[in-house]
Amino acid sequence: MATVLRGIASDDEDIEAMAGTHPEIRTFLCRSDNIGVLIRDPATGACAAIDVPEAEPVLRALADTGWRLTDILVTHRHADHIEGIPEVKRATGARVTAPAKAAGAVPEVDVTVSEGDTVRVGDLVAQVWETPGHCADHVTYWFREAGVVFAGDTLFTLGCGRVMESPPETLWQSLTRFLPLPDETQVFSGHDYVLANARFARAADPDNANVNARMAEAERARDEGRFLIPSLLGVERATNPFLRSTEPALARAVDLTPGGDPTAVFVALRAWKNRF
Ligand SMILES: [Zn+2]
Repeated sequence: MATVLRGIASDDEDIEAMAGTHPEIRTFLCRSDNIGVLIRDPATGACAAIDVPEAEPVLRALADTGWRLTDILVTHRHADHIEGIPEVKRATGARVTAPAKAAGAVPEVDVTVSEGDTVRVGDLVAQVWETPGHCADHVTYWFREAGVVFAGDTLFTLGCGRVMESPPETLWQSLTRFLPLPDETQVFSGHDYVLANARFARAADPDNANVNARMAEAERARDEGRFLIPSLLGVERATNPFLRSTEPALARAVDLTPGGDPTAVFVALRAWKNRF
């Protein structure tokens, strides 16, 4: 959908101007439920892997596409996001960019990044957000011009990460950063938990017709061996119960007063999901 929206340029000059911001993206499964991603700038041929959960699928995707890996952008230090880095770096010579707060725990780091830093993959430019909550060192890469955000284990399709080493309020603060992004922003998350997340979304937000439609879509995707990644931010705002902590229906679902503090709604939803 994003491509279609951007395809309505009025003349050749506009199309030319936008071409540099149009990445090529390839997603594939790693391990059991990690999502591997390659993003490539067609203008320069630069290409980044977002995390390396496992070397083999990343190297296979590079061989399939013929793309040359120049960069590895790490979202956080958990083993299922970094284990393949040494092998892929040996094979490609890619530069490894990792959160400064995770630098001691990520292998082969060349560049560290913090809140407000900019990362370049050829002509593609990403802003770095520190998005703690799932873990303290987590960062998100937002390619604003390209309309793409790599959310790692912070925001999932229809869900959010588990809170592992911060108060849950910290994760809510991180999730609020996604709320103002344009509807057509493509959200790439680090795992495919779509079906389980859809079941919880339906329990937490049962009167939301959009959630029921999304549940059907998730079941169809499973039957066809696909995953619903990326998701569009506009769809997430309409269906993801955690992003909808500001909505009266979600407050009522956790027995809180509508119009109150969305942080409390989020904390209650996250605790419910842990038991779900
Ligand atoms: Zn993780």
